[in-house]
Amino acid sequence: MSYEDIPPPEPKPIDETNWMVLKGFMERAVLRGQPHGDEKCDNCIYYLDPDESLHYCWHPQIRILVGGEWWCQWWEPIPADENEAPAAS
Ligand code: SF4
Repeated sequence: MSYEDIPPPEPKPIDETNWMVLKGFMERAVLRGQPHGDEKCDNCIYYLDPDESLHYCWHPQIRILVGGEWWCQWWEPIPADENEAPAAS
């Protein structure tokens, strides 16, 4: 088989399914790929590791990988006292 005979990559049904799930996140969370003013994932209490540019969001409505420069409507500041828990939502 030559290189020209290899079919180009294309999305599979699982990719469509995954996209529909993630699209739901985007719509419910008003998830955006850029900061909202000074608010962004890497200065949000729910972003697991602010030192990483891509990491896990543990907000109960999100629970996916997000970028440090992203933002959603559930953004909450990191408390000055790191032992202080965020308000229940
Ligand atoms: S709650 Fe929203 S703003 Fe905060 S880390 Fe998760 S996706 Fe980003």
